[in-house]
Amino acid sequence: MDVKCPICDEVSQIDDDSPLAKCLRNRRKHLYLCPTCDERIGKKTRKRQATGKFHLYEEKKEVDPYIQ
Ligand SMILES: [Zn+2]
Repeated sequence: MDVKCPICDEVSQIDDDSPLAKCLRNRRKHLYLCPTCDERIGKKTRKRQATGKFHLYEEKKEVDPYIQ
């Protein structure tokens, strides 16, 4: 499938059967970013994450307060 980076409008092709393609088809919120922008946004994301105001949709680490 063709995917377009919404930031720089670069069009790439990804494998229809790749996990990313499935993810993009199932969840429209999931944006494709070209590697360049991905890298750039990734840096911003990590920066924002450091401020604690940004929630990542990655798997959350379960913290059990009763097990120390
Ligand atoms: Zn891009």
